[in-house]
Amino acid sequence: MKIERISIRRICNPINRPYVTAFGSQSAFNSILVSLESGGLTGWGEAAPGGGPFFSPYTDETSFCIARDFIAPRILGREISSGAELQELLQGIRGNEFAKAAFDVALWDLLARQDQLPLYRRIGGSGNVARVGYTFGVLNSYDELLAGIEKVTASGYPRVKLKFCPGWELEMLAVVRAAFPALTIHIDCNSAYTLADLPLLQELDRFHLAMIEQPLRHNDLLDHAELQRRITTPICLDESITSVQEAEQAIRIGAARFINIKYGRVGGITAALQIHALCGEHGIGCWLGGMGESSLGTTVVAALATLPNVNYPSDISPAEKFYVRNLGTPVLSTDRPGTYTLREEPGLDVVPEPDALRDFTVAAVHFEAPC
Ligand SMILES: [Mg+2]
Repeated sequence: MKIERISIRRICNPINRPYVTAFGSQSAFNSILVSLESGGLTGWGEAAPGGGPFFSPYTDETSFCIARDFIAPRILGREISSGAELQELLQGIRGNEFAKAAFDVALWDLLARQDQLPLYRRIGGSGNVARVGYTFGVLNSYDELLAGIEKVTASGYPRVKLKFCPGWELEMLAVVRAAFPALTIHIDCNSAYTLADLPLLQELDRFHLAMIEQPLRHNDLLDHAELQRRITTPICLDESITSVQEAEQAIRIGAARFINIKYGRVGGITAALQIHALCGEHGIGCWLGGMGESSLGTTVVAALATLPNVNYPSDISPAEKFYVRNLGTPVLSTDRPGTYTLREEPGLDVVPEPDALRDFTVAAVHFEAPC
């Protein structure tokens, strides 16, 4: 299909309460939004690097600039019929996976709409239901955390993930494990530790965690492999997996037994599908994570979470957990806790609501191919 028009937007969507992790506190989620038009159809793609270079080296602003100055000119007016063809055109651009991801998702949305298939089916999903876990950030007290866990597990969530960082670590975990001895729990360290913290990390084995997510720095694959040899709890890599090649290398050296695939961080649906296939080939567990996308990007995460090798409940947050008002309409939410049911409409099944799109857009640029 010929890419006739491209729009690129920076989006800033305020959230209803500060979100605190090892990276600090945020009051809004920032993303870039791309639309591609072809043959009377519009495909939408979102990627959410955030407003600062903390979770990755990129921001919504840097992604917007790369998208505007380098990606759009390479694809405007081109005939593109697959994610692989798009990636081929973008090969000369190093890194900048979030910018590439927004285009890649928009293309897959276009392809699914053209084929009259819901996105999850167009990418090979095995059913329209994704399993969903629940994540707790750092809260004000252990009592608040315990009450929260009680509530979400009673409502049906199959596992909880706990953010884990200095000041909110072993004591917190001991309190939770004592209260919930059989619950499936994993922790997410968001790169807060190094091998110098080995004694603390070895203590985690006694809590029977499903996995430890990203204990060490994002570029410490070798150290993760070393740590995995010295602890029994499986390591799950998140921030470290920025491409298919990183996933291949992590698997080859034994740095991870699980991978948290984030489509924005790895360059889009095309790369996410390749990493999912690699995990299947090598017996590595995988699941999907979100990065603060609106309901539009969240639907992409949910579609990917229906893939056949996904063997752990994914991080798919209902929009109302974070947003006062969502970008996309309809606002999708978990129809029953612990699951996320995708609809059978063609494509992503979510498009931006015009008023919200206007209110949340910080910058925009539009391109049109000559006839
Ligand atoms: Mg993580």
